[in-house]
This record gives sequence, structure tokens and C-alpha cells, in this order.
Amino acid sequence: MGHRIKARKARAVSAPHIDTDEAILASFLSDAAHVPGGFAAGVAFPQSEAEVTALVARAERVLPIGAQSSLTGGATPRGEVVLSTRALSSVSSPAGDSVRAGAGVPLKELQRTLVSVGLYYPPVPTFDGAFVGGTIATNAAGAATFKHGSTRRWVNAITLVLANGDVLDVARGEIRASGDGWFEIESTTGELLRVPVPTYVMPDVPKLSAGYYASPGMDLIDLFIGAEGTLGVVVEATLKVVARPRRVAALIRCADDRQAIALTGALRQEAQLAWVGRGPLDVAAIEYMDTRALRAVPDDAFSRARVVRPAGQSVMLLVQIEVGNDEDSALDRLQAVLMAVGVADDPHLALANDERGAERLFNLREAVPSSVNAIVAATKQAHPDVEKTAGDMVVPFDRLADSIALYRSTLERSGLDYAIWGHVSDGNLHPNVVPRSFDDVRRGREAILEIARDVVAMGGAPLAEHGVGRSALKQQLLRELYGAEGIEQMRAVKRALDPGWKLAPGVLFAQ
Ligand SMILES: Cc1cc2nc3c(=O)[nH]c(=O)nc-3n(C[C@H](O)[C@H](O)[C@H](O)COP(=O)(O)OP(=O)(O)OC[C@H]3O[C@@H](n4cnc5c(N)ncnc54)[C@H](O)[C@@H]3O)c2cc1C
Repeated sequence: MGHRIKARKARAVSAPHIDTDEAILASFLSDAAHVPGGFAAGVAFPQSEAEVTALVARAERVLPIGAQSSLTGGATPRGEVVLSTRALSSVSSPAGDSVRAGAGVPLKELQRTLVSVGLYYPPVPTFDGAFVGGTIATNAAGAATFKHGSTRRWVNAITLVLANGDVLDVARGEIRASGDGWFEIESTTGELLRVPVPTYVMPDVPKLSAGYYASPGMDLIDLFIGAEGTLGVVVEATLKVVARPRRVAALIRCADDRQAIALTGALRQEAQLAWVGRGPLDVAAIEYMDTRALRAVPDDAFSRARVVRPAGQSVMLLVQIEVGNDEDSALDRLQAVLMAVGVADDPHLALANDERGAERLFNLREAVPSSVNAIVAATKQAHPDVEKTAGDMVVPFDRLADSIALYRSTLERSGLDYAIWGHVSDGNLHPNVVPRSFDDVRRGREAILEIARDVVAMGGAPLAEHGVGRSALKQQLLRELYGAEGIEQMRAVKRALDPGWKLAPGVLFAQ
């Protein structure tokens, strides 16, 4: 295995039409971060690798986009030609444990194709309308990262178009960084691109979407996964898939944070036993909703889920358990763990074949971010500068209790209303400010920054899964994580592959 790879040319075709019609452009000017002021030189919908190449070669600045579900402004154009990947929508028939999919395939479509042959793609973010290319570009994670890891682990190969218009086929296990920390790419013009591997040390956490992956002797494919569109346009990918698991969902009311943390710890231990064949309770994911998050959810969301709104300081956990054929043993063990931790109520269960019941419980979980986002949107009506202000923190699991205490004390000391929820089995939570004015947003940003510094000191990271994008706050968090020297090393990678700063300029860091 070497450190040098040869690029190839795409078939020569004419560039796809670039649409500049205001009415069409209007629907591409914002992503899920809802940062105002997006503008674009046009939008194009290439249908093939060759058309992507022709477009990249012709345009001065290009922003590749997927479903624009970015929460960081990374998919909000700032004057580029928007390269919508939605027409790159082919999916091959799954072969063995892998499937080849176009960048523009929404994950829910991919799952639909896979389910018909009993297969499943595990690293799904909470929003399953995200595209294959977007999730690779952000190394998306989600609830079941605890068992299955983030997107990175599931990408076997990618085809991408570089800023110079060359095409690169990168398969895992084929190209590794040289001993002295370089990759070399032979371009089709004969030029040799030397790409330095950054030397910063990534935090040891289960999920990370914080700029370029870097480690000694790393695989080239890992440089492009999580690069947020700045190093190349992902056109297609070969993804690993598994047999579709049978899943039970259990919504559990805990008396308070302390009980929820104890239960999460106990369930993680059960899962780790199950994974080595020493127990029946194969937990794939645990989601947490704190008292304040539950308070933000309207009554009708509880009614639809057929769940009574919990009282007092209660918090809720939504647990996903993979059950194989022995559902009863898993449920018996779950009951024993709940009793041992002192949980008073029976859980709300959706058994393995009860897809509707599971959906009701997942919808309640989803009502948390959508309710908080609705409050932000309503506040924005009166205070137009208000925007979503939230953390995406991950800590080593043994610091979970400390981290929750940290989020609460920092936000309360700042006089802010807030809500916390997220993927607690990974130690990955989202403290969200519930703003009443722009002043809350301003103080919220300061609080998130303060929290981030302490999270980094705990061995965690303030950029777990949503990426960095064009958010000034998140770019500052990236600097907190790796320092100015780390950012300079990322810039050196970018300069080597995209000296003209053509692709996703301003994403991750300024030029
Ligand atoms: C309700 C909600 C819940 C969410 N939950 C989660 C969660 O649980 N976990 C999680 O990780 N994220 C989550 N997200 C964030 C978001 O869904 C992910 O970041 C997702 O991976 C973005 O995919 P996308 O297709 O929408 O990409 P976009 O938002 O369109 O783009 C994101 C970035 O990737 C780049 N990009 C897109 N496509 C390509 C491509 N083909 N080649 C190169 N670069 C590309 C863009 O330039 C941009 O920088 C959530 C978002 C919402 C709205």
C-alpha cells in the first residue's frame, strides 16, 4: 500500500445548465441553520460524474449541497454556483454487504431500497432526509453511533471530483499517508499534488465532525470524509450495510438527571456485554430529553405519542434495543436493569414488529428540536437578529454527569432559558439556548464558547456531529479545539488540493 494515487479524467461532456432564475434560486438560499442573507450565482443539477467535472471546471466558486439540512450554514451559498447533487440519485443493487449510491440519494430512500432485501445502513442522523454525499461530507452521526459508529466507519470507497476537475477513486485500505506525513496525487496534467497530513491530535471521542481527520499513517479516504465539501465533490460512494436488525423502542421516565445518568451507564454496560455474546440486552442507542426540553413540547405531541407528560424534574430516555429473535430475554433484562436503578414507571414499549408504535415514540423525540426551533422562529418575528444558538458537545462517557452540570451552571449563570437533549449514550448532548431576545443569543454564544473550553479540557470536543460550516461561532470552536496552528495545517491541506479556494470557500475556516 502506497501514499500516491493517480487521478483520472472524466468523460468529456458539456457543463450542465446553470439556472439563474430568481424563483428557482430562492429555494436554495438557506439551510436548516436559517442564517439570513444567502445568495448564489446560479444553481445546477449535474446528472453524472462527467457533468460535475464540467461544472467544477467552468465555475469560479462552487458550493456542493445535499439536502441542505446543515445546522451550521455550511450549505447556505455566499455567491457561489450551487451544485445540487439531487440528480446523482442512482443506487446499485446491494451486493453482499455493500451498496453503491449516488451522492444525491436521501438516506430514507437508501433504506427503502435496502429494506426490500433485508438490509440496513446504520449511521443515520436524526434527519433521514439527509443525502449520502452530505452525510459523508459532515461525517454525520446520530443516535445509534453508540453501537454502530459514525458515517466514517461505513464508507468503503468514494468517487470525488477535485477542484482541478480531476476525478479520484479512493477505496479504503489502498492509500495510506507516508511515514513522513504526505499523500501524493498525480493529476491528469502530470502535476504532482503533495498533501500534508496535519499533526494535531484528535480527541478520543466516539463522534467528531471538526475539520480534517488527521492521524499518522491515515487512510486517504478519511481526509475527504468530514471535509464539508472543501476538498472535493463526492459523486458516489460504496457503503457498508448490515442485515436489518429487529428493534424494540422503549421510552423511559426517569425521576431526574441523576437517575437518567445511572440508567444510561447501566444500559451501556449491558450493551457491551451483549456485543461479546454475554447478555441479551443489545442497546444501540439512548436518547435524552431533559425537563426543560420536555416542557417545550406541546401537549398534542404527547397525545399523539400516547404518552402522559411527565411531571416535576422528570427527564426521559428513548432506548433502541436490537433484539434478534429473542425479544423476551432482552425485555426481561431491561426490566431488571430498570428495577436495579429504581425507575418507578413501566416503560412505553414499541415491540419489534410495531413500526407505528416506534414511529410515535421517535416523533415525540423529534418534537423536542422542532418545538425549540419553533420558539426560536417565533422570537425571531419580534427580534429579527435572533438565531438558533446551540452546542454540539461530546465528552468521554465518564465525564457525562460533569458535562451536564457544566451546561446547566454556565447557562443559568448567564441568565438564559435553555433546553438539553441528544445522544446520551455517546456523551453527546445539544445544550440549546431558548432565546427571548438578541441579547440572549449574544450571551448564549459566549456561554457556548465558555462551555466548549471546559469540554475540551475534559478530553471532549465542541463539534461532535453537525460540523463547522460557515458559523462564526463553530469556526471559533474549531480554533479552541486545535489552536491557530491546527487551523493553519488545515489551510495547508486546502491549498494543496484547491489553491484557488474554489470549493465551499469560507466553510471550516476563512481563506
Ligand atoms: C432536524 C435535524 C436533525 C439532525 N440530526 C442530526 C444528527 O442526529 N446527526 C448529525 O450528524 N447531523 C444531524 N443533523 C444535521 C444534518 O442533517 C447533517 O449534517 C447531514 O449530514 C447534512 O446532510 P445534507 O445532505 O443535508 O448536506 P447539506 O446540508 O446540503 O451540506 C452539508 C455540508 O456538506 C457539503 N456537501 C454536501 N454534499 C456534498 C457532496 N456531495 N460532496 C461534497 N460536499 C458536500 C456542503 O457543502 C456542506 O458544507 C440534523 C439536521 C436537522 C435539520
